[in-house]
Amino acid sequence: MNQPPSVPEHVDAVVVGAGFSGLYMLYRLRQLGLSAKVIEAADDVGGTWYWNRYPGARCDIPTTDYTFSFDPELEKEWTWSEKYATQPEILDYLRFVADRHGLRSDIEFSTAVTAARWDEQDKRWELSTSGGARISCRFYIMATGCLSMPKQPDIEGADRFAGPVYFTSRWPHEGVDFTGQRVAVIGTGSSGIQSIPLIARQASALTVFQRTPNFSIPARNGPAPADRLERIAQDRDAYRHDARWSRGGVPIEPTDVLGGTASPEVRRERFEAAWEQGELFGILNVFADQGVNPATNELVAEMIREKIRSTVTDPATAEALCPKDHYFGTKRPCLDTGYFETYNLPHVRLVDLRRQPIVSITEDGIETADESFAFDAIVYATGFDAMTGALVAVDVTGRDGTSLEAKWAGRPSTYLGLMTTGFPNFFMLTGPGSPSVLSNMAVSIEQHVDWVAGCLKDLRDQGLETIEPTAVAEAGWNQHVQDCAAITLHPTANSWYMGANVPGKPRFFLPYIGGVDAYRQACDDVAAQGYLGFRLAGPGGERCQDGVIRSMQPDVAMVLEFMASLGLPPMESLSAEDARAFMAAAAETRPPGPAVGEITDGVIPLPAADLPYRLYRPAGPAEEPRPLVVYFHGGGWVLGNLDSDDPLCRDLCARTGAVVVSVNYRHAPEDRFPAAAEDAFAAVQWAGANAIELGGIPGQLAVAGWSAGANVAAVACQLARDAGGPAISGQLLICPVVDSDMTRPSYTENGDGYILTTPLMRWFWDYYADPADRTDPRLAPLRGNLDGLPSAAIVTADFDPLRDDGLAYARALTEAGVPVRLIRARGHTHTSVTMVDVVISSAPVRAEMAAALSAFFPATEPVT
Ligand SMILES: Cc1cc2nc3c(=O)[nH]c(=O)nc-3n(C[C@H](O)[C@H](O)[C@H](O)COP(=O)(O)OP(=O)(O)OC[C@H]3O[C@@H](n4cnc5c(N)ncnc54)[C@H](O)[C@@H]3O)c2cc1C
Repeated sequence: MNQPPSVPEHVDAVVVGAGFSGLYMLYRLRQLGLSAKVIEAADDVGGTWYWNRYPGARCDIPTTDYTFSFDPELEKEWTWSEKYATQPEILDYLRFVADRHGLRSDIEFSTAVTAARWDEQDKRWELSTSGGARISCRFYIMATGCLSMPKQPDIEGADRFAGPVYFTSRWPHEGVDFTGQRVAVIGTGSSGIQSIPLIARQASALTVFQRTPNFSIPARNGPAPADRLERIAQDRDAYRHDARWSRGGVPIEPTDVLGGTASPEVRRERFEAAWEQGELFGILNVFADQGVNPATNELVAEMIREKIRSTVTDPATAEALCPKDHYFGTKRPCLDTGYFETYNLPHVRLVDLRRQPIVSITEDGIETADESFAFDAIVYATGFDAMTGALVAVDVTGRDGTSLEAKWAGRPSTYLGLMTTGFPNFFMLTGPGSPSVLSNMAVSIEQHVDWVAGCLKDLRDQGLETIEPTAVAEAGWNQHVQDCAAITLHPTANSWYMGANVPGKPRFFLPYIGGVDAYRQACDDVAAQGYLGFRLAGPGGERCQDGVIRSMQPDVAMVLEFMASLGLPPMESLSAEDARAFMAAAAETRPPGPAVGEITDGVIPLPAADLPYRLYRPAGPAEEPRPLVVYFHGGGWVLGNLDSDDPLCRDLCARTGAVVVSVNYRHAPEDRFPAAAEDAFAAVQWAGANAIELGGIPGQLAVAGWSAGANVAAVACQLARDAGGPAISGQLLICPVVDSDMTRPSYTENGDGYILTTPLMRWFWDYYADPADRTDPRLAPLRGNLDGLPSAAIVTADFDPLRDDGLAYARALTEAGVPVRLIRARGHTHTSVTMVDVVISSAPVRAEMAAALSAFFPATEPVT
């Protein structure tokens, strides 16, 4: 046995893996003049394309795009022969790249890194390899691949089979001849779907064991698409630039066609075009909302199922091949060549493991619950322990002696998918929390390598030695990754994106789904802000600018971006009339909100003015009395009406099962302070007196309001208390204005860029009330007597100039002994919490509001 050398080899950086990532990383390290070594378990370069040699193995991103872009000369010298190149061709390409740049001399093949330990004293990593060597390095870079750790089959008796067993991910180099054999293929993911048609050509009998049917579309392989070649030839740099700043790493125009509003003809036309095109990002882009809206997703899913049914002649087999247990796109869709047609061959059979599960592998075949099968060979196409498998397979021990595996036992945790706290100078290329497997990985790999190279250069230039993320930054990024996933349908699937294919693996959405472009921007912003969220240290000392790079909900950010793109004049530059017209026009295009049992309009006859109201009755027996909520719309006492908050009122009604009466109070500048406050109180009095006629339960009356509506709701509570009635069970104040003091920090922090701005608040105040009136508690309820007020639920949004108003009111009420439930709309703006069916991430906030509202009425429970 070899004794480990007493002195480890010293280099600046070790890269583990010699696939796309490792090769490019080595190239960049050399450019920086750093000494570097690559350790690779295989005996050649290629990574994925070295190992996965099964018949039919190809890329599923067109090779015009699945290619390095860092070397324009390389692009001139290499021409891809097909739209989707085969494994041998991609492997040849990576060999060509390695040779062209003379990379092999720094790669140690047939060697695995088995352990790595951070030495806090020396600020270096020490690595151990399968060959018994020790290597000391300053920077330890895992380029070990997202799909490189095969998942072992978890089937009873898997080692009992006497015949040959093959894994698609470890295919023999000499190939396999199945001629005349009875072959079993277990697994119908991407590798299964690619290999099954070719194995069927040789085998005398092929039986496919399927646990989950997968969506697949015809690849329509052939020559590289002429239009794309032309675009690249015309302006390669622009094309690659567009790819880098695209959502998926392939420059396509994202559609804005929504499934629900497109006509049946448009739907069919768009689907058929994507079906004919045969590209992943095409079929994922039929409708803008197919990834987030179940009904739209079903449109696409059903059109694919129709194709399967019209291809596979045996109806039972066709049905078994139709995916029905997950939304389209929530598992990686496949591209195939003749996959479904293969099941029409007389010697090919599908076994649906949901109907007859495998009991055991036997010496000569497979036994299911219903049958025994004899085989000459078994092929496992059972996939990978994705994204984390290869990282935790190495015994990596960080600063405080914790192993990476132990740190990630509950969940993988990274900052930007690049680094993780406790493991200084340890980089992961395309790690969990980066776009990686959701993108064209050639683009994502280059971006990661470039970022790491830039970082190492900056460290050196600034005399720094170590870099490590902070706990705050990492937790913030993890949250952002989950926030991005939460607004999509992805977390609903038992996919390998969720770690669901590996027993015992924590269920978390592993990749970053916010887009290659958004991700690149986040990484660039981190670096530009002096490595925000990283602790940097060196002989010259330590420096850390702590913080979270993205804390806004992703769909809120999208709305803001969209609004900014419209280039609208600031609202406060308009007249009240024009602002109202604008609001009305904007309201016309938004989704209506959920259905409720009944909506009726009426008028509250008051001495000062008749106030229009709209009553929302929940579904259910009309005669059944319900708690009553009097709601006041937002709009700074100037804007808004019964239509403006209609979706929110429907939502509150549907979620709480209460009758909601939305009241249109008088507005400024026509009717200035105290008209709105007086109207609000009068409306509550009227509702209390007419509870039975309105379908309410006497004594179960709450008020609610948003923004200025929350202001008048809060004021109404104070006036009702002073007047001795009506009794109010609770007040739901959504982003309320409670004071005229505009010096609280949120007016500065959030004063610009989040739709409600500080200048706009000033505009509202000026229309509504004279400066002399602005300390009146009927306008600034925070300044009123707060004793004996009804219980409150107060919603505050992080990016709201009024955030601190809400917090101040919550604090003051609590001090006055009023029970308060504070609901933080994390990552939201003043307006986004009310954007029903537009801002998906606001749904949980609205569910919490509804729960709080329902809690005011002890006998009732929220409906959802
Ligand atoms: C069949 C298949 C098809 C794919 N098609 C596409 C596609 O069309 N488009 C796309 O974008 N992506 C595709 N992918 C994803 C693909 O993995 C990436 O595109 C890319 O090849 C990853 O490159 P990499 O260098 O990061 O990792 P890999 O290519 O996986 O290379 C990692 C290397 O690290 C080595 N290694 C791991 N651990 C150790 C260790 N401890 N010690 C030493 N060496 C180690 C491995 O041996 C391996 O060679 C596909 C994946 C598969 C499996």
